[in-house]
Amino acid sequence: MSNENQTKFLLNESDIPRQWYNINADMPVPPQPVLHPGTQEPVTPDFLSVLFPMDLIMQEVSAEAQIDIPEEVRDIYKLYRPTPLIRARRLEQALGTPAHIYYKYEGASPAGSHKLNTAIPQAFFNKAAGTKALTTETGAGQWGSALSMACNFFDLALEVYMVKVSYQQKPYRRVLMETFGAEVFASPTDRTEYGRALLAQDAENPGSLGIAISEAVEAAATSNGAKKYSLGSVLGHVLMHQSVIGEEALKQMDMAGEYPDVVIGCVGGGSNFAGIAYPFLRQNLRDGQRTRLLAVEPAATPSLTKGIYAFDYGDTARMAPIVKMHTLGHSFMPAPIHAGGLRYHGMAPSICALYDAGYIEAKAVPQIGTFEAAVQFARSEGIVPAPESAHAIRAAIDEALEAKATGEKRVILFNLSGHGNFDLAAYEQYLQGGLQDYDYPAEAVAAAQADLPRVNLAEAAIGK
Ligand SMILES: *Cc1c(COP(=O)(O)O)cnc(C)c1O
Repeated sequence: MSNENQTKFLLNESDIPRQWYNINADMPVPPQPVLHPGTQEPVTPDFLSVLFPMDLIMQEVSAEAQIDIPEEVRDIYKLYRPTPLIRARRLEQALGTPAHIYYKYEGASPAGSHKLNTAIPQAFFNKAAGTKALTTETGAGQWGSALSMACNFFDLALEVYMVKVSYQQKPYRRVLMETFGAEVFASPTDRTEYGRALLAQDAENPGSLGIAISEAVEAAATSNGAKKYSLGSVLGHVLMHQSVIGEEALKQMDMAGEYPDVVIGCVGGGSNFAGIAYPFLRQNLRDGQRTRLLAVEPAATPSLTKGIYAFDYGDTARMAPIVKMHTLGHSFMPAPIHAGGLRYHGMAPSICALYDAGYIEAKAVPQIGTFEAAVQFARSEGIVPAPESAHAIRAAIDEALEAKATGEKRVILFNLSGHGNFDLAAYEQYLQGGLQDYDYPAEAVAAAQADLPRVNLAEAAIGK
């Protein structure tokens, strides 16, 4: 029986998970090697240890299903976790659907998004390893804000390479990062060799996430050990830290007396989707549940639905490891859609492997339809969603309308990964009719994909 009268499902502090869930333990498909960008041979912990502390590298390669969350991390999680699970009753009514729509609200974090869930442990494990400073990139500014806050809590210095167009369009995100003590630079910068080379070709280069990653990696790799690098998505340990979302949601759906037929998340590098979906996938794999897991991406950067499944570099300058993923090509320059956090050429390798094997579904949605869904959600539920999260809302509304057409009582759960209070310029453009849809950039993708590394699979697989 569903809990018919309740709208918010709240847990106690003691319900904050004590362990993260590691999908590596239950992967139904074999892992693919991670390759060195220069030699194309499997990377060693030594190579990774230039960039990351050993605890995070061990989490990356661990096959343990449960990894303990340090008490110092749980203490900071207590500032905002457990986050609420909310039934979107007013949205259900507006749609006239028999479906029940629930959302997990990660915008409740003080950074405004789910990214704080991994920023805190990354800062903690770096501090514990003696790191003094971190470097990172940020697109829309959400990751940079979260890591600034976390570095502040653990007294670590932080250098943020922020994609230049966002730096110019989102001054308040920069001020937020600076308030927490971070230094923020518009990328490409003249601080790295790669940035200087790009600026010499084109002083007006607007930057991209791939370029900013390359600069942040270079800054850490050339610091003689003074700085480490931190990434807000894509890597296995990042996805694992986000599992707190799904673990809490499992308990909260139980409080609601329902179980989701479909779990939905938007995907940029895949961390918030994996965070909510992998604990439900575990229930599918171990307990015979049959929840559909749906990843939603922008039509302008459709890595899963239109990318090819191949080995590619994680960044534009080819300094990051080569992994097997659905990719649009590392040299692909995405259109300037407002969901800055989803403008990435690749995708987390575990999501790609699971998608390829049919364990998860994916769909791409256009920008204007996404903002229509965002505004409908805001007017029903009172929260202005981040443009990234609005992709999940578009898909949730489509699921609810499908259920209405078939008269089916579908239970829909989506992750509201962040609020859009810093994205009002995008809403203003939408409300004034100034937003556009971008066609699938077939030619640009074909050109970028011609540039993929030619990896000798047999050699890579056996690790020589
Ligand atoms: C960064 C971000 C995303 C995209 O990143 P994932 O790793 O795919 O989750 C989505 N939503 C919000 C609010 C973000 O800040």
